[in-house]
Amino acid sequence: MYLKRLELQGFKSFADKTVLEFMPGITSVIGPNGSGKSNISDSIRWVLGEQSIKSLRGSKSLDIIFAGTQNRKSLGFAEASLIFDNTDGALPIEYTEVTVTRKIYRSGETGYYINKVPCRLKDVLELFMDTGIGKDGYSIIGQGKIDEILSNKSEDRRHIFEEAAGIVKYRARKEESEKKLEHTKLNLLRINDILSEIETNMEPLKGQAEKAKKYLNLREELKSIEVGLFIYNIEKYKNNLKELIKDDEVYKAQYNEEEGRLERIKALKEELKERYRQHYKAD
Ligand code: ATP
Repeated sequence: MYLKRLELQGFKSFADKTVLEFMPGITSVIGPNGSGKSNISDSIRWVLGEQSIKSLRGSKSLDIIFAGTQNRKSLGFAEASLIFDNTDGALPIEYTEVTVTRKIYRSGETGYYINKVPCRLKDVLELFMDTGIGKDGYSIIGQGKIDEILSNKSEDRRHIFEEAAGIVKYRARKEESEKKLEHTKLNLLRINDILSEIETNMEPLKGQAEKAKKYLNLREELKSIEVGLFIYNIEKYKNNLKELIKDDEVYKAQYNEEEGRLERIKALKEELKERYRQHYKAD
């Protein structure tokens, strides 16, 4: 694996954009104490996903961002990019050059990018899994790390050998699968709880369901009875109306007849009156 370039901006003491080109072979960085040599390796580990701010020699994540000097104001973000040559396809990605970037803003917002595309920390870790490159890989040996490897517990040493042997990927997958299995077991347990709760509620629900069914049947029956009653009433009212119309015609005829008689009586009365007047006039 060939790390071609490191680009820093706002990272610790590197306020301005700084590009370090690594030529094939060995590159040594030389400088007086406190000039920022270790900040370079810190930046590499940071991009590779280092989460422990202590191992980056800070006390909080914002210590990564250039904090300013007497003559220069602090910056609002820190960014570091590693540019790898991937012509040998060592990284499982279809690009001949791979840029991995990590960024943090003073607001606390952070992000990872692979070839400028935002991604998760998990994607960065998976990209470098079993390549020997990684924040814990054997490719970055910091101050005191050799002593640590030699004197630490065998469990810690094992991790370094596993990374070198290329089985970390499988171990990580195994751990992930185990976690998922555990999660599934918990879900199963919960489902069983829910199931037994449902079973307990089943009896009363059955009774309620039967009642509901009975209610629905009765409602249907009532509806058809109401419709029948309605039709019956309509028929009845229709017949009543017919009768009334018939009666009305009879009464109208009677009325007309009575009216004629009245007219005739009135005429007779007038005639009698006239005759009476004529009779008394003659006397
Ligand atoms: P040594 O040779 O003693 O190990 P070094 O060259 O590795 O030193 P570093 O430890 O990389 O130096 O850098 C330390 C310097 O980085 C200090 O001067 C410190 O003030 C500066 N520094 C660290 N964090 C920041 C920051 N957030 N903003 C500005 N400067 C910072």
